Amino acid sequence: MPEPSPVLIVGSMALDSVRTPVGEVKDALGGAADYSSVAASFFAPVRLVGVVGDDFPREHLDYLTSRGIDLAGVEIVPGGRTFRWAGYYDFDLNIAHTLDTQLNVFADFQPKLPDAYRRAQYVFLANIDPELQLQVLSQVENPALTVCDTMNFWIEGKPDALKEVLRRVDIAFMNDAEARQLTGKLSIIKAAKALQDLGPKTVIIKKGEHGALLFHGGQHFAAPSYPLEDIADPTGAGDSFAGGFIGYVASRGDTSMATLRKAVVYGSVLASYNVEDFSLNRMRRLTDADIAARYRAFQEIAYFEAMDEATV
Ligand code: AMP
Repeated sequence: MPEPSPVLIVGSMALDSVRTPVGEVKDALGGAADYSSVAASFFAPVRLVGVVGDDFPREHLDYLTSRGIDLAGVEIVPGGRTFRWAGYYDFDLNIAHTLDTQLNVFADFQPKLPDAYRRAQYVFLANIDPELQLQVLSQVENPALTVCDTMNFWIEGKPDALKEVLRRVDIAFMNDAEARQLTGKLSIIKAAKALQDLGPKTVIIKKGEHGALLFHGGQHFAAPSYPLEDIADPTGAGDSFAGGFIGYVASRGDTSMATLRKAVVYGSVLASYNVEDFSLNRMRRLTDADIAARYRAFQEIAYFEAMDEATV
């Protein structure tokens, strides 16, 4: 197998306060870039671009480093306050209710990529201000694959910048509600096509606990979700999905439909583990053997026999 290429990731690095029907955490490690970097780090080296204040606990940076994540692109603003998100989930765990979003140090962030980052082949623009996503994209020299994610906050707040991001990336991730909101289409199939018309050849629609759909050119693939008995906190499911996805693609070094289908399954594996505990706590205990075991479990759930010739 080829050496995995490093994945460049930009996105929110956060302290999250989250309540779900089974518990809550305050100022816990979170953020789209943190979830996706840790998920990707199981497959490929990661180079992280982001910003935190000096209130961001040192142990979180040490944990990211322990996962082999390069933090040369992370700025620590003296006296600055880290991005914070507060939200809660009721029994419909697919719906995150935002209570508070504080951009803090992200409000004035001007990412400047270290030289080694500019030649990154795999780029993941995780959820953050689409203008920052564009600034990062314009500093990368000749990427093989660019992928973006976003959320309702930016669809409502910066739709034009977001559409510019979509024009320039190869793959877009969105959850079903966001895809409907951005395109105005009720049908998920029509929404995915409308997103493809905006730019990305490949669109991945995440349906929370109901799996994910991959649209690639004119083909599509449906991945199931894993029937988890215990869900603690869905925060970061989408980010760990995307991180697992791009990490796996970078480890293979190709973007064929077969690789993308497997990447969707690896993304689903990472997301399914992530929701078993709050913050990144489950990923801290995750092993390669766990990932392999659940990949096989996914394969079994999705398998079915060929139709009987005589039935219809
Ligand atoms: P998800 O994978 O969609 O559950 O993403 C959850 C993460 O998104 C949380 O850890 C938050 O810190 C982060 N987040 C929430 N709001 C925003 C925002 N407006 N921009 C960037 N990241 C955000």
